[in-house]
Amino acid sequence: MTPSVRRGTRIAHIGIAVRGLDAVLPFYRDILGMPESPLDDADGARIAGVAAGDSLVELLEPHLPDSPIAKFVDKKGPGIHHICFTVDDLDGTLAKAKAAGIVLIDDTPRIGAEGKRIAFLHPKSTGGVLIELSEY
Ligand code: ZN
Repeated sequence: MTPSVRRGTRIAHIGIAVRGLDAVLPFYRDILGMPESPLDDADGARIAGVAAGDSLVELLEPHLPDSPIAKFVDKKGPGIHHICFTVDDLDGTLAKAKAAGIVLIDDTPRIGAEGKRIAFLHPKSTGGVLIELSEY
């Protein structure tokens, strides 16, 4: 599906892996003054969203022990986990990435924490950054 309005690629959110939401959330909410935005849990993580204008910060707490976030925190400790870009044409962008030899974690889009269709690209193809693509 080709969208009729092209808005351009934007930062949708930054995913930050944390050991515990309760310890970190007050910093973003109370010190930085970022309003909370309700999000669904996803991929075995509890997720709290805080808004920075049109962009979100997703705080990702390991919930299930074998989840990607649990493995990330075990291996690397807390910190920036991924960046999500909203694109005009998710399916078209995924097809373009695949054709360019970029390793896709999700071959086809699935539903993410914001209830939108998303897909992840492998960091080994993107300069070491886990990239999530989302549609508007
Ligand atoms: Zn994300």
